[in-house]
Amino acid sequence: MRQIEASLTSADRAFLEEVREFLDENLSPSLVAADDEQRMFFGDYHRSNAWLEKLRPRRWHVADWPEQYGGCGLSAMQNYLLLYEQGLHGAPFVRPMGIKYVGLTVMHFGSEAQKQEILPRLINGDDHWCQGFSEPGAGSDLGNVKTFAERRGDVYVVNGSKIWTTDAHFANRIFCLVRTRHDDSKEALSFALIDMNAPGVSVQPIRMLGGDHELNQVFFDDVEVFPEQLLGPEGAGWAVAKYLLEIERGAFVLGGRLRRRMQGVIERARVSRASARIWDRIAETEIDLMAYEATELRLGHLAGEGADVLGAANIIKIEWTELVQRIDELAVMNAGSESLYCATQPRDYVYADNGDIEMFGWLASYFNNRATSIYGGSNEIQRNLVYRTMKRRWA
Ligand SMILES: Cc1cc2nc3c(=O)[nH]c(=O)nc-3n(C[C@H](O)[C@H](O)[C@H](O)COP(=O)(O)OP(=O)(O)OC[C@H]3O[C@@H](n4cnc5c(N)ncnc54)[C@H](O)[C@@H]3O)c2cc1C
Repeated sequence: MRQIEASLTSADRAFLEEVREFLDENLSPSLVAADDEQRMFFGDYHRSNAWLEKLRPRRWHVADWPEQYGGCGLSAMQNYLLLYEQGLHGAPFVRPMGIKYVGLTVMHFGSEAQKQEILPRLINGDDHWCQGFSEPGAGSDLGNVKTFAERRGDVYVVNGSKIWTTDAHFANRIFCLVRTRHDDSKEALSFALIDMNAPGVSVQPIRMLGGDHELNQVFFDDVEVFPEQLLGPEGAGWAVAKYLLEIERGAFVLGGRLRRRMQGVIERARVSRASARIWDRIAETEIDLMAYEATELRLGHLAGEGADVLGAANIIKIEWTELVQRIDELAVMNAGSESLYCATQPRDYVYADNGDIEMFGWLASYFNNRATSIYGGSNEIQRNLVYRTMKRRWA
């Protein structure tokens, strides 16, 4: 950020100052701790919502929404600055399933009635969404979903199950890829917006290796869904899901968050007088992090000029997930056996004598972030998609 500050316009520099003042005033130590303690990349659900409440009065929680739908009219650069600084200062991560994934997808595919119903509820924090794509037999091969929505008179009746559903135990709504026709084609898929409180929906927790509960399996037993709850026409679910997945993979600014983690690693390496081998790896990672930051910034700039940058989503997804894993790996290497000690602490971090957090759950975070290269579509699948895009361009 320091490198680009000098080249910002005076309006953008003033905005950056405004953001920093806002963070100074609103980002309490407990909210920052929520980010630093986190194991999962999305962090603690409740403090994520508490942070959203701080952003809401300025509409900064929907900063990348067009003004016509309630956005606050920031430029692409200002949106970048806002998100980068939040990450850098350790603000909790605002849950993206509703505001980003559903919000932006409904703007693109939704009927007028759906826009009017869903978007204000997202702005007001009335709805919390989760993502019902994966199934026991459909992960990478997402087109293989079996959850079936059978048309019976005026309604669809949904039966089946979704798995690895993050936050399903908190959410009141779920978006699902379902099959509406008995054939294996992509045209048999539809995109349904379902109420988690509807009769027949149940949620079963899945505990992770470190004991965390963020994942669930969701079951649908004769759940009634009205045709108005389909997003896009029946049979258009694959196009809607692909659009949403591009948002999931590429529409974030994560440079600030990665930079904050990297600063933690460097600080620790200084204090512990890390070996030359660790410093070599820090240098390599630092260079790649700078390249990542520059790429995010460039994409933000291109978006500001009206370019469609969602196509870069697969590359961005590979890059940030591998970077966060490398940073965590460095942290664990550097902390050595102390990282094991940390993992045994009740709250996963250790205080220095002055009460500052000295070291947080590097090991827990290391384990949890192994999943970053799996969720949202594994990195192997992202590489296949990059290859296919390139092949099309070169043909
Ligand atoms: C922490 C976490 C949170 C998640 N949250 C959600 C959620 O909220 N909602 C949701 O719907 N899903 C969620 N998922 C599921 C996630 O999207 C899937 O796990 C992911 O798409 C991989 O699918 P799979 O687990 O079935 O693995 P598989 O598809 O069985 O893949 C197994 C391995 O084979 C590789 N592989 C498969 N096919 C190919 C191929 N063609 N070429 C090369 N390699 C291949 C994969 O890369 C992977 O390494 C979450 C997953 C995790 C771990």
